[in-house]
Amino acid sequence: MIRRVEDLDLRDKTVFLRVDFNVPIEQGRITETHRIESALPTIRLILDRAKKLVVASHLGRPDGKVVPKYSLRPVCDHLEQSLKRPVLLAPDCIGPEVERMVQDPNQRVVLLENLRFHKEEEKNDAAFSKALASLADVYIDDAFGAAHRAHASISGMAAFFKQKGAGLLLHKELDYLSRLLSTSEKPFVTILGGAKVSDKIGVIRNLLPKVTTLLIGGGMAYTFLKAKGIDIGKSLVEANKVSLAKELLAQAAERGVSTLLPVDHLTGDSERKNPTVCIGNIPADRIGLDIGPQTVAQFSQELKQARMVLWNGPVGLFEVEPYSKGSQALAQTLAAGYPDLVSVIAGGDTVAAVTAAGVAAKITHLSTGGGATLEFLEGKELPGIKALEETP
Ligand code: AMP
Repeated sequence: MIRRVEDLDLRDKTVFLRVDFNVPIEQGRITETHRIESALPTIRLILDRAKKLVVASHLGRPDGKVVPKYSLRPVCDHLEQSLKRPVLLAPDCIGPEVERMVQDPNQRVVLLENLRFHKEEEKNDAAFSKALASLADVYIDDAFGAAHRAHASISGMAAFFKQKGAGLLLHKELDYLSRLLSTSEKPFVTILGGAKVSDKIGVIRNLLPKVTTLLIGGGMAYTFLKAKGIDIGKSLVEANKVSLAKELLAQAAERGVSTLLPVDHLTGDSERKNPTVCIGNIPADRIGLDIGPQTVAQFSQELKQARMVLWNGPVGLFEVEPYSKGSQALAQTLAAGYPDLVSVIAGGDTVAAVTAAGVAAKITHLSTGGGATLEFLEGKELPGIKALEETP
C-alpha cells in the first residue's frame, strides 16, 4: 500500500518533497518546463495544508561536486514565477545553514540546492539520507522520472519517516502506466522508436503478451529491417542485435501481434542533407532518417482504430528538419482521436516531439519518466516506489 499526499495529515508539518526538476537548461534558460509544471499540483496542495515545504531535486550529472552550471537557480526563479510566491534557494541541501533556513518562520518554501552536488546522494549513503530526513516531518515523493534510481533522497531517506507517501504526479504516472500493463482495452497499439533497440528489448518482451499491434520506427527500425534482409544503406544499426531482432519478430508473430516496420523512408546523404523518399531498400550511400509518407499512412491507419496507445521514442531524427515530419504526423493522428483514445507518451524526446507538433494538450498523459517509464513497463520493481510501500 502506498499512501497518497492528499490522505496524510500535514497540519503544522514541515514536508520534504522530492521532485524531478532535472530539466534541460541552455545558457541559464530552461528550455522544457514540463517536469516542473507537472509537480505544481502537489506543491500547491502541500502549501494549502502544511506549515512549510522543503523541495529537493537533482539536476544533470555533477558527479558529487559543486558545478555552478548545475545549480537549481533557474529552476528556483521559474518556480517563484509559477507559484507567485517567494521561494528561497538554499546554498546546499544539508548542513547547519540549510537547517537554519528551513527553521526560519519567515520562509514557507525552501528549494534545496542540487542533491547530486554530494556524491552520497547517488551512493544512497545512510548518513546523508538521515541528514536530509532531519529537515522535515513528512516525506512525499513526486519524482517519477527518478523512481528507478536507488539514491538517498529516493530510496534511503523514506525509512526515516513515520508519514510518507506519493505526490499527485507519481500517483498519476503509476495509474496510467499500470493501466497500460493491465489493459483489456483493445486494440492496444504501441509505437516504439528512438535510436537503440538495446534500450527497448525488455519493454518489447514484457508488452508482447498485451499489445495488439507494434509499430516500429526511428533508428531502431533499421536493425529489424536488416533482420528481414532489407538493404538499409548507412542507416543506424546495432549489428550485434540483428539476430535478437529476428527472434523478437518471430515471438511477436507467434503471439499474433502484428508488427509493422517502415515500408518507405525519408533519407539523407552523409551530411543528412538532400532529403529524398526511398521505398523499400535504401541505397548504399543514404541514411534512413524518418519514416516515409506510405509508412505514416499505414501507422496512422492502425492508430485510428486503436483504443489505447503507448508511444516511446520518436520515429525519426526529429531535432533536424525535415526529419520531424513522421513524428509530427503521428502526434496529429493521436490528437485527432482525443478524448476517446487513451494515449500515453513516454520519454523526454517523444514528449518534445509531441509538444513541437503543438498537440500536447490532446494527449491523455505525457509521462515525465524516460528510464523510469521503460523500467516500469519492463515489469521491474522501481526503488522509488518500493521505498513508499507500507503494510496496511
Ligand atoms: P532514444 O533515446 O533511444 O529514445 O532515442 C532518441 C533519439 O533517437 C532522438 O535523438 C532521435 O533524433 C533519434 N532518432 C530517431 N530516429 C532516428 C534515425 N532514423 N536515425 C538517427 N537517429 C534517430
